[in-house]
Amino acid sequence: MSLEERMYKCPKCGKEFSKTEMEILPGVKCPYCGWRIVVKLRAPVVRKVLAI
Ligand SMILES: [Zn+2]
Repeated sequence: MSLEERMYKCPKCGKEFSKTEMEILPGVKCPYCGWRIVVKLRAPVVRKVLAI
């Protein structure tokens, strides 16, 4: 699967949400408090390299 879901964060209420959650409401705004400024977070990619 190549679907990459980016996470966003509302700087006002501090909630983190996905693009899917944000699309519940029209436009780009926080689905929790309606704040129109959201911050993109990096995709939580955890990659560990074992060096033995
Ligand atoms: Zn908010």
